[in-house]
Amino acid sequence: MSHITDIFGSLVFDDRVMRERLPKETYKALRKTRENGKSLDIRIANVVASAMKDWAVEKGATHFTHWFQPMTGITAEKHDSFISPLGDGSVILEFSGKELVKGESDASSFPSGGLRATFEARGYTAWDPTAYAFIKDRTLCIPTVFYSYSGDALDKKTPLLRSNEVLNKQALRILRLFGDTTTTRVIATVGAEQEYFMVDKKLYDKRPDLIFCGRTLFGAKPPKSQDMEAHYYGAIKPRISAFMKELDEELWKLGILAKTEHNEAAPAQHELAPIFTSNNIATDHNQLMMEMMKTVAHRHGLECLLHEKPFAGVNGSGKHNNWALSTNEGVNLLEPGDSPIENAQFLLFLVAMIKAVDEHQDALRASVATPGNDHRLGAHEAPPAIISMFLGDELTEILESIESGKSYCQKEKVDMRIGVHVLPRFPRDTTDRNRTSPFAFTGNKFEFRSVGSSASIATPNVVLNTIVAKTLCEFADVLEAADDFTHALNELIVKTIKEHKRIIFNGNNYSEEWVHEAEKRGLLNVKTSVDAFPLFINENNVELYTSFGIYSQAEMHSRYEINLENYVKTLNIEALTMIDMIKKQIVPAVGTYINELCSTVSLKVSALPGVTCELETELAKDLSEHNLALYRKSEEIEKKLSELKELCDMKEKAEYIRDVLIPVMNAARKISDDMESRVASKYWPFPTYSELLFDI
Ligand code: ADP
Ligand code: MG
Repeated sequence: MSHITDIFGSLVFDDRVMRERLPKETYKALRKTRENGKSLDIRIANVVASAMKDWAVEKGATHFTHWFQPMTGITAEKHDSFISPLGDGSVILEFSGKELVKGESDASSFPSGGLRATFEARGYTAWDPTAYAFIKDRTLCIPTVFYSYSGDALDKKTPLLRSNEVLNKQALRILRLFGDTTTTRVIATVGAEQEYFMVDKKLYDKRPDLIFCGRTLFGAKPPKSQDMEAHYYGAIKPRISAFMKELDEELWKLGILAKTEHNEAAPAQHELAPIFTSNNIATDHNQLMMEMMKTVAHRHGLECLLHEKPFAGVNGSGKHNNWALSTNEGVNLLEPGDSPIENAQFLLFLVAMIKAVDEHQDALRASVATPGNDHRLGAHEAPPAIISMFLGDELTEILESIESGKSYCQKEKVDMRIGVHVLPRFPRDTTDRNRTSPFAFTGNKFEFRSVGSSASIATPNVVLNTIVAKTLCEFADVLEAADDFTHALNELIVKTIKEHKRIIFNGNNYSEEWVHEAEKRGLLNVKTSVDAFPLFINENNVELYTSFGIYSQAEMHSRYEINLENYVKTLNIEALTMIDMIKKQIVPAVGTYINELCSTVSLKVSALPGVTCELETELAKDLSEHNLALYRKSEEIEKKLSELKELCDMKEKAEYIRDVLIPVMNAARKISDDMESRVASKYWPFPTYSELLFDI
């Protein structure tokens, strides 16, 4: 255990190190900057930079980089060494405040969605002192935001930081109304549980689809998949266990609180849950975690698959974004608490969540739309494309009695009248864990489960922060103007429950009945990402984001364009990979097997006169037909791709893919999978689902 405390955070320039290494005044000034978002004096930056460099060099670092999160969804870095020539042939190690605070890089290789005019390819990175610098691969990584010459955000972090400010401001207004004069800052805390698959690297290397697309484009279902439910919480296999052990250590060094690890529902699927922290740091940590998973996997001859749906017919992977609100004193505002007054405050935050999610289903849905996630949402697995909220029976009953003004009967059979000022103590619902809900209250936090496993959590958290801030702002407007606070509060809570309870659903989210019920309730059901992308720029969302200064209209449009472009690119690669695999691997392999069958027929006929070769003949004939059909499908995909090229508009392209290309690809896959189950194993050109999922 002491080993863990020794290494934990050893590669992070965190508060502890700063306190230790910075002059008192510098430390105080930096802390103030971090807490209030004030800009930093260059003299202070110089002192911080120098201390940072000394610390990093002691830990073996030779380079530094501004680490940022462009709109590709992964992280980027540009390394520079600390070396500075002295002019006499010798060098010193240097790192100035200017280098710490601001960087310049060629932005032309990152997507800008039209924000960066071609004549101005420069992009700038600026230090975000609210996130800690760390060492990775002998490089001091400085978390930064990334923006264009004209000041437009070119990354995922800037809007997140903006949304944090907005949320803080509105949440403080509410706290003040409840007589809280001491809280100085409210932040959203986030713990992102990461699901992933592990496969043997040697098998992975034999599958072009996994290599190029991160998911299998072909593969017949194995005889046993997750029907047995034996994998979940089952014993972890030794190779995986060794991988997890090393991963934990690497993450601990980076100050990432990796805590629970267990198998997931599907075979070869696992989950890693970190202990929650501020959403800003949680976003960095999640990116680092994904990167480390891949790096450490390679050391163990494994490959980590972060795709939302690596295997058809097998449970997909998500990222459960646990979200709550915390004061600077560490009080969780979504914790039901004990005393009535605390309960009233909790209730107000709770109904704010209900209203926010109901009114902004479109924003939430759009924030998780990616081509990979289309295979989860909208397919027959949890969570569904419909956004709803699980509260559990107990809390739902409490809200119902508040709404109707009736009494609420607690488990102990004590009748109690509900008024905001005399609320019962809330039972904390830990037993009922509805695993099918996209947005579940789990005792003292909400779990947004629709986020895809490979996605950055930045964007979904921008949405959560903003929609909650907007709702709290509306609430504060009403309550600040009220003469009788308690009365107004009561009224507001009842009214909000009445108007937004349709979003609450505690049942089975992937039943057919829910789809109908949700439609009756008027809830959105947006099945594909192509349909979800435009939601982001609808009137509702433009108003929401621009009025709070989260995104400018231009920034919104650029993100919309990038999403469409990414969709088109991804599907293009999948289609090309599919054609390649069909023509170069599947069709020839099946052909060889057919030859084998045919030569068996001629051998049998000459060696064993009178014997029938019904089986071989039938199989060879049938496979020949299928093989031809598959080849034809690959030609059809080619044709669709060239038609796709003719279209100019990105949205049109994406729609064409959704409506025309994907159905042909699905048909091709079906023919291939069907043949796979009839072709002798030794002829099949790539590892099967059984091998990939069970051979670790
Ligand atoms: P489970 O959901 O499996 O019961 P936990 O409740 O312990 O597990 O937590 C799941 C995830 O939620 C963890 O990543 C944890 O850090 C995170 N979490 C717990 N409390 C909060 C909170 N107040 N804010 C944000 N995330 C939280
Ligand atoms: Mg969970």
